[in-house]
Amino acid sequence: MMAQYLALKAQAGDCLLFYRMGDFFELFFEDAKIAARVLDIALTSRGEHDGAPIPMCGVPVHSAESYLARLIRAGNRVAIAEQVESPEEARKRAGSKALVARDIVRFVTAGTLTEEALLEPRRANVLAALCEVRGMVGIAACDISTGRMELEECPADFAGAALARLGASEVVMADGLAELWPEAIVRPAPGFDSNRGDARLRELHGVATLDGFGMFSRAMLAAAGGLIDYLDHVGRGRLPLLLPPVLRASGSHMAMDEATRSSLEILVSSGGGRKGSLVEAIDRCVTGAGARLLADDLSAPLTDIGAIRQRLELVSWLHDDPLLRGDVRAILRAAPDIGRALGRVVAGRGSPRDLGQLRDGLSEAARLRDLLFARSDRPALAEALLPALGGHGALTDLYARALVPAPPTERAQGGFIAEGYDAGLDELRRASGNSRRAIAALEAKYRDETGIPALKIRHNGVLGYFIEVPAGRADKLMQPDSGFTHRQTMAGAVRFNALALHEEASRIAESGGHSLAAEEAHFEDLIARAVAVREAIAATAAALARIDVAASQAERAAEGGWSLPRVVDEPLLDVIGGRHPVVEAALAGKGERFVANDCALVPDNRLWLVGGPNMGGKSTFLRQNALIVLLAQAGGFVPAQSATVGLVDRLFSRVGAADNLARGRSTFMVEMVETAAILAQASERSFVILDEVGRGTSTYDGLALAWAVAEAVHEVNRCRCLFATHYHELARLAESCAALSLHHVRAREWKGDLVLLHELAEGPADKSYGLAVARLAGVPQPVIRRAKAVLDKLEKGRAATGGLAAGLDDLPLFAAAIEAAEEKVDALRERLNGLDIDALSPREALDLLYQLKAQANG
Ligand code: ADP
Repeated sequence: MMAQYLALKAQAGDCLLFYRMGDFFELFFEDAKIAARVLDIALTSRGEHDGAPIPMCGVPVHSAESYLARLIRAGNRVAIAEQVESPEEARKRAGSKALVARDIVRFVTAGTLTEEALLEPRRANVLAALCEVRGMVGIAACDISTGRMELEECPADFAGAALARLGASEVVMADGLAELWPEAIVRPAPGFDSNRGDARLRELHGVATLDGFGMFSRAMLAAAGGLIDYLDHVGRGRLPLLLPPVLRASGSHMAMDEATRSSLEILVSSGGGRKGSLVEAIDRCVTGAGARLLADDLSAPLTDIGAIRQRLELVSWLHDDPLLRGDVRAILRAAPDIGRALGRVVAGRGSPRDLGQLRDGLSEAARLRDLLFARSDRPALAEALLPALGGHGALTDLYARALVPAPPTERAQGGFIAEGYDAGLDELRRASGNSRRAIAALEAKYRDETGIPALKIRHNGVLGYFIEVPAGRADKLMQPDSGFTHRQTMAGAVRFNALALHEEASRIAESGGHSLAAEEAHFEDLIARAVAVREAIAATAAALARIDVAASQAERAAEGGWSLPRVVDEPLLDVIGGRHPVVEAALAGKGERFVANDCALVPDNRLWLVGGPNMGGKSTFLRQNALIVLLAQAGGFVPAQSATVGLVDRLFSRVGAADNLARGRSTFMVEMVETAAILAQASERSFVILDEVGRGTSTYDGLALAWAVAEAVHEVNRCRCLFATHYHELARLAESCAALSLHHVRAREWKGDLVLLHELAEGPADKSYGLAVARLAGVPQPVIRRAKAVLDKLEKGRAATGGLAAGLDDLPLFAAAIEAAEEKVDALRERLNGLDIDALSPREALDLLYQLKAQANG
């Protein structure tokens, strides 16, 4: 057995091997140790291998799913080895001592789940494959629980951002790209072949060319090849639901890198969960599919003004008509998750319940279609979705006739095909019903004949039907001519069989077997019908999700008094009465009021420097404006009295290192790497928020960097930017940067206490209130007093020397400084180019080196 186990384990590679033995999946060796630890189950041992006991643990087959879920969540992958023949077959094949053949039937990995129990209803489950072809990285991403598949490509530098957007739960890559995503599963490079990818996709979708779906590049097709190759591998040749690939064009979405996503806490809050995230604060979807699509929308806001306006128009329609919205949401609430039910059906793991879900979901979709159809004022997007909501009449009628109202998840016991669907099946059921009644009649008859009122006819899995009497009354039935045959003696009872009972029982077994077979045949047929129209069903699922998202946005807007943003194609941002949805909700929980603030960025006033005390509301202000842009481009209302949002191509958010201590790497280094990315990538159409950049290092370095970064953003990137800082000295930038203006969050000292007003005002911050904030935070009085004494001394010193920013008056302007540096290098280059090295003596060469160095140092 160990030999068989080890051979399978070799195939399983770094997956944990679930080895089927009877009613258990057993794990051995290291696998057992990992599973025992993760699952908190007993680690035992069995036999010996190389002289040491073999660690072992096991989970019962019937509850394997929940154990699988925990192992997968803990970051493991699992290979399932089943028995692929019965013990009888094994004996026939290889004699009485034969070992039952086993094979890996499936790999269960985080990205390839379809089971309802293992998936989170409100989160997409994305598997991504990446490979590089001539400098471009192709990315193929799919959610096999719904079949959605997308292909895109980008330069290698942007692959990290694309992966961050996808939020994949599993990533596979060709050899050689591994540094992009350390946790990725590395697969052999030949799988990532563009010709093969092309051929597999054509074959899957029965088309001669993929051009109808989009013009895919080599890199995309190679990635698709790798993805399908991996799915083949984990499904052991059985592919899950894959819909035709959709091309994700670069530039069609607002770009955000990983740092921006996490600092804006879009899908995951800094605490690590959904709680406290943007999506949690705005999600009012009533279906899981809607919630998944909303998360998608927020991860990839649009840059196409027409598409944004279409979404907004639909939201607006549902917002302005609460009755309509209520009706739409009531229908959606009743609709099961047909996308995922379809995923299971196509993957070969569908159950009668899944078919019931398709029936109910598609019927609700048709109801929604009728509701919308009755309205004459439908916006364009609703109009476009309408056809996808209907068209399944024949299928739902069939399912309505064929299935019982609430079909079971298990089909082994049958009972899911409705009465009246198949006369033959009804007949078989009637026969077995008759026999059951006959058995009940037999019980009465035997009681009469034997005179034992306690006689019962019972049934169990081992004996089938039998007659049971109390031990004290059994003698009569034990007589040879009693007509009863003895089967079993228990402590208090004796069990018998009888000819008539045996006959009825056989009839029940026979008709039961036949009706199970009949139900099974119907099941296969019903499954095939859904598979045949899978793309149409998936389109219905997508349409339902889109309407749910729009209704959710409308509902949320109505709840919070949000407004319809005006989205324009100019580099400006004009928000009146803006709020931060997450902070506002948190304050509301404590009974506090959020102070709304305005923001107005235009080309000649595009950089706002925001000062003021800690805890004054600077970060909140910065982020609320970034979120308003994001929400508007995702096609939703925004938490503001009014907002005009000029399209943003890239959104950047950076937080000074001190806020990010948990990250491990040298935090200041991280801050600078991230800042460098902004300076390299932000364009005039980008929006950047910089929160206390430079804070992660000493005062002088920090001020110098913050100064230079603000100047570069102003002069070079020329993007819209909100820059929060506690360095007063930066205020002097306003003198040299024409499009920069000064703002601060207001605070007042009142009777020695600091009052933070969270209100934005124009002009520089007057002072930092650091000590007042410390007092507010509960730092003991003696410490505050001492700090005050130190501060007085420092300030006196500063006054004498001209302060931290002394000498900055002589600083040349940013552009001039850059030019100067360039000139110096060019003069050097000229001199070097003019040299005839062969004509120099060693002595001259050395002199020249000294001269060049002196020149370089200015
Ligand atoms: P800063 O970045 O200036 O240190 P934060 O933006 O982190 O300040 O805000 C600190 C706290 O102040 C927040 O957690 C919130 O409770 C409160 N706050 C911030 N902005 C507002 C506002 N506009 N209205 C009410 N409270 C606010």
